Amino acid sequence: MKNRTKIKVPLKYQPMIEEVDKDSDGYWAYSKPGFKFADMECHTAREDSQVDLLDVIRSLAPCDCKECASEVSGAAV
Ligand SMILES: [Zn+2]
Repeated sequence: MKNRTKIKVPLKYQPMIEEVDKDSDGYWAYSKPGFKFADMECHTAREDSQVDLLDVIRSLAPCDCKECASEVSGAAV
């Protein structure tokens, strides 16, 4: 997991995350193929604060959408 922020991501969620980043729009988290942020039903989360992003990270769950399935299996999309 790449982390360009000071957010302390709990160890159990780190294998499910590709990257945590921040820019002028706020804080971002990208889930790894095979996982999603269940709160939003999406693979990319954006929040205004570190606390809010952590809340979303805690909603990480396995994902079996078409996009994930093809990435996990290594097939071309
Ligand atoms: Zn998915």
